Amino acid sequence: METYEVNDYPLDIYGLAYRIGLRLVPYSSLPSELQEILRMTHPDAVTRASTDWDIQSIAIFYNDAADYHRMRFSLAHEVGHIFLEHYDDNDVSEIEANLFANYLLAPGPLVIRDSAFDTQTISQDFDISYGCARVVLDRTINRLRCGRPMTKYENTIENLCHLNR
Ligand SMILES: [Zn+2]
Repeated sequence: METYEVNDYPLDIYGLAYRIGLRLVPYSSLPSELQEILRMTHPDAVTRASTDWDIQSIAIFYNDAADYHRMRFSLAHEVGHIFLEHYDDNDVSEIEANLFANYLLAPGPLVIRDSAFDTQTISQDFDISYGCARVVLDRTINRLRCGRPMTKYENTIENLCHLNR
């Protein structure tokens, strides 16, 4: 998060992709036949790279006709695949990328410090869908219930990140 200046929330996921050096390719910029194939095989987004996954070669193709919140989540999900080094698609990597996206868009310590504990506020504050906000809320409540003290990385996130309302 420090490296890529992930500190202002709601997160500018496009800006983050840019700072990482990823190429974002909207489906609408592609030839229509290719668009059709992508929409069928990957309704939201897909990541492609050269065989050695050199960061400069990574491109995220995304459906820019999708709902705005859905698009933000899809991009965060693809960033998750890249950081978790998922080189192929399977059920486990999908779950992991969804968890990553959820946490990246609304990090626990920030939700705890700055947000009221309801779906609507979380959705507004972090610019995410209601569905996503509900997952965030469940996750945050579970985190508080377990009663563990803040870990080092949670403290780092708390000190680093700022929520703009
Ligand atoms: Zn995926």
